[in-house]
Amino acid sequence: MSDKRVERLETTILDVPLRRPHRFARASMDAQPMLLVRVHTAGGVTGIGEGVVPGGPWWGGESVETMKAIVDTYLAPVVVGQEVDRIADIQQRMHDVSAENLFAKAAVEVALHDAWGRTLGVPVHTLLGGLARDSIAVTWALGTEEAGAVVDEALEKLDSGQHHSFKLKMGAQSPEDDTRRIVEIASKLACRAGVRVDLNARWDRLTSLRYLPRLVEAGVELIEQPVPAEDIEGMVAINAALPIPVMADESLRTPRDAYRLARLGAADVYSLKTTKSGGLRNTRMIADVAAAAAIPCHGGTAIEGPIGTAGSLHLACALPNVTFGSELFGPLLMREELLTTPLEYRDGHLHLPSGPGLGVELDPDAVAKFTRS
Ligand code: MN
Repeated sequence: MSDKRVERLETTILDVPLRRPHRFARASMDAQPMLLVRVHTAGGVTGIGEGVVPGGPWWGGESVETMKAIVDTYLAPVVVGQEVDRIADIQQRMHDVSAENLFAKAAVEVALHDAWGRTLGVPVHTLLGGLARDSIAVTWALGTEEAGAVVDEALEKLDSGQHHSFKLKMGAQSPEDDTRRIVEIASKLACRAGVRVDLNARWDRLTSLRYLPRLVEAGVELIEQPVPAEDIEGMVAINAALPIPVMADESLRTPRDAYRLARLGAADVYSLKTTKSGGLRNTRMIADVAAAAAIPCHGGTAIEGPIGTAGSLHLACALPNVTFGSELFGPLLMREELLTTPLEYRDGHLHLPSGPGLGVELDPDAVAKFTRS
């Protein structure tokens, strides 16, 4: 077997244009900035990880620029010289030099798994314990246009068999207007497709308790993170009041969060994101805590490109309790393909690629085209 010591890390920022702007409550993105982290081993193997955040530092305080600085200045020196399969040891070393920066650490940790898998000639899901499934359902993110246009887009996706469930972002308008818009959309779609909404932590407890029951009545099947990350008590109250599942996202970043949310009954579903939690291993630990508490999980995204999406896909396919589908649609939002062979979206599902490591290869011309100068 080739020498598996890490010889050097290389970081590159890309700006990948989107097909249409992707909007959150207060932020919007026309392009997704992306940090590629390459781990080169002494044996000549290269593993790749991707550092992305959803539309800027508003979500969790990190951005591609902070991730590049953290990786180059602090993480790379403690990773270089280690063997790629000493993941737990390297995680501890990274934690010893940097307290949070979970998005940056995730990029490095996924790159280590890719390099490790390629060194052994096995896929990343093998390193994560083997498969529970070969593909995962993908929810489509609908736009923030007025209700008629959004319903048309959803019906087109449904009729073509591309997606069977939809996620809508809320929190950009007043609660009254926002609720009216979603009720209109959900009433038209609810009998044919699953409709989920994400408040991205924009409402408070009383607003949530007042308006969310109307969404339930209109047929919305799941409410994601209505209140701020730290308002766990608010999540508990809302979850108790609603007959449909409340999903935790911003409130759930660490295994400790997973335990606390489970103990308090703050969420019926957990949104897993490799990015927000510092990588595949921490995310698996969160899923294991959820499994012990009989809480199903959903494969969330930070609008990852194909590398990050492939990593999250390997994990989602290795975890038995990811039974609430996924939103691994990031690559579908991107205007141009970054891989030599695109990820396979078919029949409403994203299918696992084959091959060692993440099983995907970047197209060097596409990478060069979008590299930030
Ligand atoms: Mn979310």
